[in-house]
Amino acid sequence: MPNLSIDPSWTLFLDRDGVINVRLVEDYVKTWEEFEFMPDAQASIAQLRTIFKYIFVVTNQQGIGKGLMSEADLANIHQNMLAKLAEHNPTLLPIIDKIYYCPSLKSSNDICRKPNIGMALKAQKEFPEVDFQKSLIIGDSISDMEFGKNAGMLTVFFGESLVLQEDEEKVDFRSRNWEEVIKLLLS
Ligand SMILES: [Mg+2]
Repeated sequence: MPNLSIDPSWTLFLDRDGVINVRLVEDYVKTWEEFEFMPDAQASIAQLRTIFKYIFVVTNQQGIGKGLMSEADLANIHQNMLAKLAEHNPTLLPIIDKIYYCPSLKSSNDICRKPNIGMALKAQKEFPEVDFQKSLIIGDSISDMEFGKNAGMLTVFFGESLVLQEDEEKVDFRSRNWEEVIKLLLS
C-alpha cells in the first residue's frame, strides 16, 4: 500500500454518483428531488475541506448526451448540492472549488469522459497549483480508479462493490463508506 501522507498542498477529486449521492440503478439523477446524499457525506466532505488545498467534483453525466436531462437541470442539481454542503462549512473556503462534468456519451470516448483525464487536465489548467502526484480520487467505479491512475493520482475505491483481481492494481485504498474515508485520511 502506498504511503498516504496528505498535507495541505494536496487536491481531492471526488466522483459524484455513488460517493456524494446515492447512485440510481439504471437511471440518472435528473432533478434535485432525485438527489439523495450518501450517509455522512455532507459532514465528511466538509471535514476534508480542512485538510485539502482543493476539492473538485469530476462526474460523467451522459444523461445529458442521451437527452434525458439538460445542462440547466444538472446546474440546478449542483447549485442545490453546493448550498446543502455549505451548511456544514467549517471554513471560509468553498467546500467544493469546482464541479467538472462530462455530458458526452460513453460511445464517444470523449477526452472529458472518465477514465480519460480531460476533467483533471481542465482543473489543472484553471488551478495551476494542482499536482497530480499530490492528488487523490475517491470513486465507486473502476473507471474512477483508471482516471486516477491515468493522471498519476492515488486512488480510493469507495463502497461495497467487488473489485476484480485484474483491477486490484488500480486501487490503492478501499473505503466502504464515509466513516472509513475519514479514518483513512484523518488518522
Ligand atoms: Mg460513481
